[in-house]
Amino acid sequence: MAISRREALTLSGAAVVSTALNGCTGSSEPKPNSDNPSSSINNYKAPLHDTTKPRVVVVGGGWSGLSVAKNTKAFAPDADVILVEQRHEFKSCPVSNLWLVDKVDSEFLTHDYLQAARHYNYTYFHATAIGLDKEKQILDTSNGYIEYDYLVLAPGIDYDYSRWTDDIAFENRLKQEYPAAFMPGSEHLTLKNKIKNFKGGNFLMTVPSGNYRCLPAPYERACVIADYFKQNNIKGKVLLLDENNSITIKEKGFQSAFDELYKDYLEYIPGAPINEIDLDNKIVYTEFDEYEFADASFYPHVRGGKILEKFGLAKDAKNKLEAHINQLTYEAIGAKNIFISGDTRPMGFSKSGNTSNTEGQYVARIIASKINNTKPIAWEPATTACFSAVSIQPEKAIYIYTQYSYDKETKTFNFADTTADENWKTNGPTNADSNYSWATSLYFDMFGSKDS
Ligand SMILES: Cc1cc2nc3c(=O)[nH]c(=O)nc-3n(C[C@H](O)[C@H](O)[C@H](O)COP(=O)(O)OP(=O)(O)OC[C@H]3O[C@@H](n4cnc5c(N)ncnc54)[C@H](O)[C@@H]3O)c2cc1C
Repeated sequence: MAISRREALTLSGAAVVSTALNGCTGSSEPKPNSDNPSSSINNYKAPLHDTTKPRVVVVGGGWSGLSVAKNTKAFAPDADVILVEQRHEFKSCPVSNLWLVDKVDSEFLTHDYLQAARHYNYTYFHATAIGLDKEKQILDTSNGYIEYDYLVLAPGIDYDYSRWTDDIAFENRLKQEYPAAFMPGSEHLTLKNKIKNFKGGNFLMTVPSGNYRCLPAPYERACVIADYFKQNNIKGKVLLLDENNSITIKEKGFQSAFDELYKDYLEYIPGAPINEIDLDNKIVYTEFDEYEFADASFYPHVRGGKILEKFGLAKDAKNKLEAHINQLTYEAIGAKNIFISGDTRPMGFSKSGNTSNTEGQYVARIIASKINNTKPIAWEPATTACFSAVSIQPEKAIYIYTQYSYDKETKTFNFADTTADENWKTNGPTNADSNYSWATSLYFDMFGSKDS
């Protein structure tokens, strides 16, 4: 519920507090909105403990937000850290392609926010962030407002269907009938059902252009679904239409798997942006060709998480509404004490969980140094480490590892210390094992042990 300017002034009383480093008050009253009449802060406080400690509120319990929350508490034990997440439980996108074809169960991917909060000594608050008063440093949520000293926004990505349609009804049909499954939850369940019930024909999937979430994942998914069709004698094939002119990452490994393992089960068509989708007749049109499909999963372009646009913290549409931040410190431009991290960042880093996790450690260090009043933190590069399955029977994988360097002259980021192993024929089984070890160690990093 929004409060009026007059109500806000009445409510505020003497409750104006310093939001520097002296913590958020235990007052149950909101700070005044009098200079910001458009602000729509709830008039009730979130049901959270009071604190005199500096409060750090992290929005988004994904790979980035979980890392920021855990590490802020570790580096600044005196901070009161609140993780605001709209989901009840965590589902991992990494390794989910293997779950689609029954190589792992859903327990492997599902994790407990309460456990993470207990283990790492912060608070998990189940709510959706819906409003922000930057001046007064108040975050509004679906379950009341929260005053903060530092705010971190890590909302991940949203989909952008505008290349295909501006008709919202059609967009909703695409989302409902042929979801991308690049955000965790029901989309993945629908896709798994589609694979399990597929009777034959073309199973159409798409690869968007631009820096989409997890560059290798659409190729990995094509491989494992093709393998599933092959193992189960399904007279169908994956038709992978790629907007890009070639495979965007680990090209040698994926291309050789396509050619050598899935000749009859996977057709890869690069340089094939879709111009029109006819859902009723199940045909897509590219510039020169048309393709029929029996079933499909359309992966559209991605953009920054919508909450950034709502909060006035996104770049313009040309920049895919990604975070408007100082790219070295992750601080929001035009707002104090707000940081933005994860896949919504504007830098061309790989949009991966490992990138978000390591970046979260750096953001936490910056915030902790402010809270602890210690010297500023030198820039630390994020690390991308990503395994991709190319076959499930037997399990084989390839991987890439890279860091990033910053060129002060050109003010650009570049890949640094990149290594890859795309030789699935000899090293595939070892890489497949390492994929599970990587995931297990990252889940432990984010959630701690299950006995806590
Ligand atoms: C199929 C697939 C395979 C992948 N494989 C790999 C891999 O092998 N290795 C790898 O490193 N990466 C992989 N990734 C990429 C990885 O999943 C993402 O890069 C990572 O999830 C990004 O982390 P994030 O924290 O930015 O966003 P997310 O993990 O998406 O988290 C964002 C969170 O914010 C929450 N949120 C959003 N808005 C609000 C709001 N207003 N209020 C409250 N909460 C909100 C969301 O509910 C969500 O939990 C894969 C992705 C996919 C889809």
